[in-house]
Amino acid sequence: MSASSDAPTLLIKIFGRDRPGITAGLFRTLAGYGLDVVDIEQTVTRGRITLCALVTAPATGVATEGALRATVHGWAESVGLQAEILSGTGDNPPRGHGRSHVTVLGHPLTAGATAAVTAAITATGGNIDRIFRLAKYPVTAVEFAVSGVPTGELRTVLAPESSALGVDVAVVSAGLQRRAQRLVVMDVDSTLIQDEVIELFAGHAGCEAEVAGVTARAMRGELDFEQSLHARVALLAGLDASVVEKVRAQVRLTPGARTLVRTLKRLGYQVGVVSGGFTQVTDALREELGLDFAAANTLEIVDGRLTGRVTGEIVDRAGKARLLRSFAAAAGVPLAQTVAIGDGANDLDMLNAAGLGVAFNAKPLVREAAHTAVNVPFLDTVLYLLGITREEVEAAGVAE
Ligand SMILES: [Mg+2]
Repeated sequence: MSASSDAPTLLIKIFGRDRPGITAGLFRTLAGYGLDVVDIEQTVTRGRITLCALVTAPATGVATEGALRATVHGWAESVGLQAEILSGTGDNPPRGHGRSHVTVLGHPLTAGATAAVTAAITATGGNIDRIFRLAKYPVTAVEFAVSGVPTGELRTVLAPESSALGVDVAVVSAGLQRRAQRLVVMDVDSTLIQDEVIELFAGHAGCEAEVAGVTARAMRGELDFEQSLHARVALLAGLDASVVEKVRAQVRLTPGARTLVRTLKRLGYQVGVVSGGFTQVTDALREELGLDFAAANTLEIVDGRLTGRVTGEIVDRAGKARLLRSFAAAAGVPLAQTVAIGDGANDLDMLNAAGLGVAFNAKPLVREAAHTAVNVPFLDTVLYLLGITREEVEAAGVAE
């Protein structure tokens, strides 16, 4: 029940070495006093319990507050715990408007970075209402529930802190929408996998330097993506089609990729990939990982050889955003409930179109434009941004 704002309430805090039965013991002790429970919070950190109970004061005629205090202290002493009892009135004040989840990923998470991030939250006028560890592996991930400041403002203030401090700070708005995100679409090269597939093909064609040269020109803005794709694929003309199998075998998944996909699938998410690379590789990944959607460019193969051309509609920067929309429509998921993950300038439209755009070990330009960034090389850390804990991730793995 909630206590009216002027009703007397008691905050009872119990602290000490945790063991089974403490919570039951406290409430058994309180049960004889005709109290109502207003709030309970309990945490255990390295074997030490902190149990806070907010209860109404003893009903008139049942007992005095003094008697209750003596009973609680006596019980606590008998089980080797410390008790603190504070008189007051009413329930917790309501949380402020503008509620966000701030997830901090550190590898390691230093006290200095934690100081800077929390000071920055305070400086915005935001209040930290709760703190919770999501994971200790492969990074330390801590979630802060913050209220009193708009999510966008918090994001703007915290983003520069994170790049300066070497931690990742993701700010997402609280509320049901976070739990409703049901489609995740990933880029492939340097996101789902560690490689750039065109470079693997170039290795077999002996044209790595030429391909790298075209890539550099594209990076300098001398070529757009489509021009650079055609120029690089042209360098592969004449290559034996058996190379496709070799390239598939060379592809290395990003650490955490399997865990990410497996966990999302078990949670009922749909998962897809969009790539400026090639269906010859993405179709194999779709099969291997059980993905729901995959789209990429297709290398043309005639008479057992690569022609140096691609067939069909080009998947470029605009194409990736278009595909995100069409996957979302096919999945029956509103765009606001999608998550997109990518590392390149090519991914920017898709990251911006999604409900949550995650820059994954991205170039600075992409990092700055995305909603949030992950700069540790573990793809499963994206799960923590969705509020999923490591325990839940591991339970999903064991349940297989
Ligand atoms: Mg990429």
